[in-house]
Amino acid sequence: MLPNNLEFDLETGQRGNRDNHIESLICELTGSEAATVVNNNAAAVVLALSTLAKGREVPVSRGELVEIGGSFRVPEVMESSGCTLVEVGATNRTHLKDYRSAVSAQTALLMKVHTSNYRLEGFTQSVDEKTLAELAHEHKLPCMVDLGSGCLIDFADLGLPGEPKASDYIANGIDLITFSGDKLLGGPQCGIIAGKKSLLDRICKNPLKRALRVDSMILAALSEVLKLYRHPETLTQTLPTLRQLTRPASDIEEQAVRLCSELANHLPQAYRSATAPCYSQIGSGALPVETIPSFAIAIESAEDRDSDLRRLATELRKLPRPVIGRIHDGRLLLDLRCLDCESLFLEQLPLLENALAC
Ligand SMILES: *Cc1c(COP(=O)(O)O)cnc(C)c1O
Repeated sequence: MLPNNLEFDLETGQRGNRDNHIESLICELTGSEAATVVNNNAAAVVLALSTLAKGREVPVSRGELVEIGGSFRVPEVMESSGCTLVEVGATNRTHLKDYRSAVSAQTALLMKVHTSNYRLEGFTQSVDEKTLAELAHEHKLPCMVDLGSGCLIDFADLGLPGEPKASDYIANGIDLITFSGDKLLGGPQCGIIAGKKSLLDRICKNPLKRALRVDSMILAALSEVLKLYRHPETLTQTLPTLRQLTRPASDIEEQAVRLCSELANHLPQAYRSATAPCYSQIGSGALPVETIPSFAIAIESAEDRDSDLRRLATELRKLPRPVIGRIHDGRLLLDLRCLDCESLFLEQLPLLENALAC
């Protein structure tokens, strides 16, 4: 590894703060006063709550008590941060008056959680962040939002499903936001905390901060990704996540046509391949129900045998560069949206042929 000045201030020649450089980038992109980076967004939420709300109450809407996957469940995260969850409203509807009646002398802050992986539809009501921030400020309390996958640019401009930007929350008066670096943002695994300097000062002094901090490689990778965000007009070329999300279906279709016959040449008689339209799921804790049109190579078993498809899927996953398909409606679909380098796929076809011949 190259020498670096992670905790050394080149100007003063004294010990420096490892967060300085990344902090100014995050502040520039989110409109925040201060920021820091920890291991992941789960750590960001735990650190923020245990600093600002330990031993006190935090009202959260019943519609936002989500489980993210793994072991991140909002009620349990709050418990392990030492604060008391005060459930507010109903699963489908929460009103401002519900929050208002939950605020007491024990309240530490008001919090909203992005319902990242599911959507409420029908007879629903929630309190927007601007209104909630106003209520918090009336009571001299901070208002925090766990954004899940933070978004730094206007997704609608790229033809993708809209998602509020981190800077919108700050502009609407939210005092503290937390989000992942490795979901829609497209960076390394980390969690970003941004907002009011007075709150960040307290958060950074918490002894837990050191336990949850990130190493210099992550800071370097995050900093390179954030620098790309300074030029949003070229992001769909420079940032792989956005390049793949915005790839036109027509481009993917051309690739599918090119590769389909090559693949067919290496598959035994037991399989038939064709190209087919499909949908890519964005997922990853954001845009839960959104899909984007894409193209796939669709492989069927000539004998209509599921076991043939499962065998092919297994052998594809065992290649030196694993190829991951999904079986849907009697076909193995290889969605080509994320195939950047065709030769890596083509080079392996003889290996696949050999494996299937055994
Ligand atoms: C994904 C997510 C988390 C956890 O983030 P990690 O970076 O995976 O730890 C927490 N809260 C919400 C709302 C999320 O979507």
